[in-house]
Amino acid sequence: MIGFIGLGQMGRPMVKNILKCGFPIVLWNRTIEKAYEFQEYGAEIAKNPEDLGNKADTVILMLADSEAVESTIFGNNGLYNSNVKIIIDMSTISPFKSIEFSKRLSEKNIKYLDAPVIGSVQHAEKAELNILVGGDLDTFNSVLYIFKCLGKNIYYLGPNGYGLFMKIVNNMIIGANLAILSEALNLGERVGLNKKLMLDILSLGTANSKVLELKKDNLINENFEPTFKLKHEAKDLFYSIETARKLNIPVPLTSLVHQLYESGISNNLGEMDYSSIFLLFKKNLSGK
Ligand code: NAP
Repeated sequence: MIGFIGLGQMGRPMVKNILKCGFPIVLWNRTIEKAYEFQEYGAEIAKNPEDLGNKADTVILMLADSEAVESTIFGNNGLYNSNVKIIIDMSTISPFKSIEFSKRLSEKNIKYLDAPVIGSVQHAEKAELNILVGGDLDTFNSVLYIFKCLGKNIYYLGPNGYGLFMKIVNNMIIGANLAILSEALNLGERVGLNKKLMLDILSLGTANSKVLELKKDNLINENFEPTFKLKHEAKDLFYSIETARKLNIPVPLTSLVHQLYESGISNNLGEMDYSSIFLLFKKNLSGK
């Protein structure tokens, strides 16, 4: 039996794929109502993480952040108290917290993998996630059948924390990319250029990017329904800065970009898609 905790935007399509693969599954979510829709497909619902860990040998987490993962594992009625054998954390959390969790869990002989993903809700729906794994290699091989059910490209990157190190490198780039795209588009609009035309022209040259391609329609229509929430990008940039500080590595651009996303949160954009960073330039930094 596979256990799954975290039925947010990413977790829900991932659970659907595990069910499609035919694996029995038991679910828990802080807001438990989100689990009910899966009952008709045969999913069991657990009372709490501990109960879930007593029903499932292998448990996947797809939670918001380090605090959510810590309380789910080590809090009251947490997974730590259960008979779980393997925890696969697919959330994006602090790499150093993740390494700490792996050490604490190893004292109870619970195997722990960090396995964050690149790709968003649409990739999760199509089982096309790119999965970045850190931890014990034998444990990785023993759960590859689950990763194959969720993702397209699966990378084993080394010991605990290395999946997350790769993930934060990725999100440093996408966050900065979207911020400069927003800043430039705002300047263009303020001088009277048409946003759609600018994006069409940018997509023809070296200024094109995957971020531009994926977020073009959001930016044109100013529709910021979330697939990846701005608050999550801010968190991931924070984890990059935390990592850089611990290792004394300069990340000046990331520090600046992080400030912008934090301002986005202060301006009520946290629950919107991270492409809503455009509104920060349009509304708050426009000088109007
Ligand atoms: P989300 O929609 O915000 O869902 C977050 C999940 O975490 C929900 O199940 C939420 O429970 C749970 N949670 C939050 N705080 C908690 C706490 N203190 N204790 C227990 N549960 C808690 O996030 P998401 O978009 O699915 O993302 C999940 C993870 O994947 C994040 O780490 C994110 O950075 C990463 N990620 C997301 C994307 C994307 O495109 N969305 C892509 C790659 C990676 P409730 O339902 O009760 O709120």
